Amino acid sequence: MSAALPTLPHYINGAEFSRPDSLLAPVYNPSLGRVTKQVALADAYTVHKAVASARDALPDWAAKPPLQRARIMNRFLALLNEHRDELARLITSEHGKVFSDAQGEVTRGIEIVEFACGIPQLLKSDYTEQVSTGIDNWTTRQPLGVVAGITPFNFPCMVPCWMFPVALACGNTFVLKPSERDPSAANFMAALLTQAGLPKGVFNVVHGDKLAVDTLLSHPDVSALSFVGSTPIARHIYETGAKHGKRVQALGGAKNHLLAMPDADLDQVVDALVGAAYGSAGERCMAISVAVLVGDVADRIMPKLAQRVRALRITDGMNAEAEMGPIVSADALARIEGYVQVGVDEGAQLVVDGRGVKPAGFEQGFYTGGTLFDHVQPHMRIYKEEIFGPVLCCVRVPSFAEGLALINAHQYGNGVACFTRDGATAREFARQVQVGMVGINVPIPVPMAWHGFGGWKSSLFGDLHAYGEEGVRFYTRQKSIMQRWPDSAVKGAEFTMPVSS
Ligand code: NAD
Repeated sequence: MSAALPTLPHYINGAEFSRPDSLLAPVYNPSLGRVTKQVALADAYTVHKAVASARDALPDWAAKPPLQRARIMNRFLALLNEHRDELARLITSEHGKVFSDAQGEVTRGIEIVEFACGIPQLLKSDYTEQVSTGIDNWTTRQPLGVVAGITPFNFPCMVPCWMFPVALACGNTFVLKPSERDPSAANFMAALLTQAGLPKGVFNVVHGDKLAVDTLLSHPDVSALSFVGSTPIARHIYETGAKHGKRVQALGGAKNHLLAMPDADLDQVVDALVGAAYGSAGERCMAISVAVLVGDVADRIMPKLAQRVRALRITDGMNAEAEMGPIVSADALARIEGYVQVGVDEGAQLVVDGRGVKPAGFEQGFYTGGTLFDHVQPHMRIYKEEIFGPVLCCVRVPSFAEGLALINAHQYGNGVACFTRDGATAREFARQVQVGMVGINVPIPVPMAWHGFGGWKSSLFGDLHAYGEEGVRFYTRQKSIMQRWPDSAVKGAEFTMPVSS
């Protein structure tokens, strides 16, 4: 690695931290296809230091009144708003998504911080006076301790914000291990948290790979882990974390379907498919990657859909005209274009081939064009597996029932959409579909901050969804307190199960 390149350090105990002999990984600007900085990869010592700093900060932070924690969150919120475009630019430079999309990501992250500012209300407990004569009972929710978050490359601001604002507001301290592919957003937010008055050690960032993650997974001082990423790693995190006695929520991959009925507004369907399949180059866990076209819908929309895919404006994310930027890395680009060949070999009809598309001036960038397949069959790998790129697979089905059965048979169950004008169809779809997040004429139904986010089946391992009240439950544990005072009626030793009397 070059000594001339800037190196992104870890962020531990309220300050940047690095080790002179640290391993480094390259960070690319994917639009240029060039390494622009390098990131330190944590060894076990560094992870232990971050956890120790979080552990030391825990007693004071957990004891702070929720209102005081909320005030710090409020200052962080103001700073995020002030610096939102700077953060979005940083995201575009390392991830490649277009700037307006990066701004949207930052906004969705900010919304979770807004939610976390309401923590005093969210932590209000319940109380039953007189559960028995002279006895009261209440429940309270207390923080878990040191919790860790492990996040993917595709939302370097929003996905960490699904975790740490709620975890911190609940009184936990936090160690974030962001994706090593676009690590700068994490440090940027850590510095803003310090500026907002967050005490040292309450929020820490360690960069790294499997070694850092595995050290967190088995660390005795880490109480809980939140993970978002691909399904094989999510399963590994869930199983290993559980084996070490930790609370775990692990959100995995996806293959999201959009079912279009013949009565739908088909112009709206085309718009929805183009935006949801190719926005952010298909690198969204809620991207639509399969269109389930009922009856004659495919014949009616295919020419227009193909024309729109061919016309996608693909260029550098900072260009205001851009609709789609590059893929995050050369490896991901090779994987995606490899899947296009798999689809061809499997016999799907390649309507638009995005392979090899390079915008002028960015020939070295990790670009591909939008790809569109028709006549995709459920047994094909391009249908079954997550491609995570700008590739839309169209499956033709004769009826609503067959479309619904197809969706329900898929291993993933993250997001789904149904486009129709018929209320009964929409209602049946929402009721019967085996997917965690459903859109009715809404292609990307990412729930708002106070509703919680999570898929079903191989898209989520664990019981509780991310953020919202589910997040508050995840980052706290319930304690029940039953109280009697000496001057209330006491009947002497009781040897039977206590009942209300
Ligand atoms: P990834 O699984 O490769 O990496 C996620 C995180 O795990 C990163 O921090 C990475 O450093 C770490 N990691 C990678 N390999 C590891 C290993 N062997 N052991 C331990 N840790 C490891 O995912 P990605 O490529 O960064 O992100 C894309 C994936 O994330 C897609 O599958 C996408 O569907 C999924 N995703 C899911 C959601 C959701 O809410 N369900 C949201 C965003 C992204």
